[in-house]
This record gives sequence, structure tokens and C-alpha cells, in this order.
Amino acid sequence: MSTLTRPDVVRTAVAVEARAVVKTYGHGATEVRALDAADVTIPAGRFTAVMGPSGSGKSTLMHALAGLDTIDSGQVLLGGTDLTTLSEEQRTVLRRERIGFVFQAFNLVPSLTAAENIALPLTLAGRKPDPEWMAKLVDVVGLADRLTHRPAELSGGQQQRVAVARALIARPDIVFADEPTGNLDSRAGEAVLGFLGYAARDLRQTVVMVTHDPSAAAHADRVVFLADGRIVEELSEPTTAAVLATMARLTTGEV
Ligand code: ADP
Ligand code: MG
Repeated sequence: MSTLTRPDVVRTAVAVEARAVVKTYGHGATEVRALDAADVTIPAGRFTAVMGPSGSGKSTLMHALAGLDTIDSGQVLLGGTDLTTLSEEQRTVLRRERIGFVFQAFNLVPSLTAAENIALPLTLAGRKPDPEWMAKLVDVVGLADRLTHRPAELSGGQQQRVAVARALIARPDIVFADEPTGNLDSRAGEAVLGFLGYAARDLRQTVVMVTHDPSAAAHADRVVFLADGRIVEELSEPTTAAVLATMARLTTGEV
């Protein structure tokens, strides 16, 4: 097909895709359908935000896309690999080699320095960071003079910047961030969002961020909205005002 030669088709290659994903928790009367035949496509090299009310399935979707959790039915295709066909061990290897994570609670190792925390995904795989890439990331996140500090000696914003550098160090196919600014004041949050945006736009890193903050979502290239375990809306080139308006529309039930 002639479309194969179009550069815009190359740019919008798919990083990960969920097809009709169902995930339930519990059984019988207490069963919760956290994902209800959810379909979503995450384009490569772009910054996608996932929004939705509390309990709408955002974290469950992220866990399914990242192979952190099994699903009941449907498919998750990460770079063409169907995660549902992999064993737990194979998923663990795939996560280690192809996915970076940033969590709300930073999750740094307290006994390691900032530099050691950043390098950890590679250390665990028996590899060493590429010095140039390490230097570039450290420079981008502004941690050059904090590398020998341990997490307890860093502010929350600095700790989260270490976590962002750690997520990027192995040049993963995708970085997933679940409420990465949830524990930060707005200035520190802006810095972290700036780095995630830079990673997508300048380093062509695929980034997926779960957030309930409209101004955080406005840093993304695209926002998908979840309600009751499904994607119900999406916005391209979002502004804070457009995100707020969409959320208002969804919560008043005019889907
Ligand atoms: P969100 O991240 O959008 O707040 P979640 O994905 O965490 O939503 O949860 C979706 C639904 O699944 C909610 O009703 C939640 O209570 C339920 N849920 C999530 N995790 C579990 C679990 N481990 N056990 C039981 N129910 C769960
Ligand atoms: Mg959540």
C-alpha cells in the first residue's frame, strides 16, 4: 500500500494497544469490572495522558498495558507482542527490558545514591549505563550536583526527577507514569511534566501518564478519558480548559 511510504504513518506507529480488555476483581456479588472491553491505541514517540474519575480503571489499564497484571480476556499488544500469551516470567523480562515506570510515591531505593538509583534498571540487568546518555539525562533533569545524595537528602521534586531519569536510562519502548505529580507541589510538578514532555518531543520517547489533574494532562499531546472501564472520549493538543470542559461533560453524563 502506498500509505506505507507516508512519513506521518511512520510517526504514528503503535507502541502499545489494548483490544477488548476485560479485567475483573473479586467474584460473585463483590465482582468489580475494572476494565469493560477497553480499546486503546498508544502511538509511539508521543505523550498520552489517561484521565477519568476515581475508580474508572486508569491504574488497572496502565497495569494491563505494562504487563504488570494479567487480564481476563482481550489482548494487549506491546510493540506487536501479545502479552497475554507470555508467562509471568516472560512478562517480567519484557517489563525490565522495554518499559520504564514512574510512580506517585517515587519508589527510590533509600540506601542508594541518586546516580545508583538512576542506573538501577541496568544494574539489575547486569549492564552499565552509557555514560553519554546518563550525562544527558542528568543534565536534562537538573541533577548534576545531587548525584551522590541519597533519597532522604533530596526534596520530593528532586526524588521524582531521579525517578524520571531512572525510567529513561534503559531507553525503554514506553514510560508509564501513574499520577507522577500527585505528591508534588505545583512548581516541582511542572518540572516533572516538562521532562516527560521533553522526553516525548525531543527524545521520541513514548510516554503514558495517568493523572486526574487537568493542567498536568494539558502537557500531553493527547488525552484519553476513561469512564466505567472504557475509553469514552479523547482530545488532541489539549488545553487545560478543554480538558476541564470534557471532564464536566462526562461527569454530567452527556457521553
Ligand atoms: P482508578 O485508577 O481510575 O482510580 P482503578 O483502576 O484503581 O481506578 O480501579 C478500578 C476499579 O477496580 C475500582 O472500582 C477499584 O475499586 C477496583 N479495584 C482496583 N484494584 C482492585 C483490587 N486489587 N481488588 C479489588 N478491586 C480493585
Ligand atoms: Mg489509580
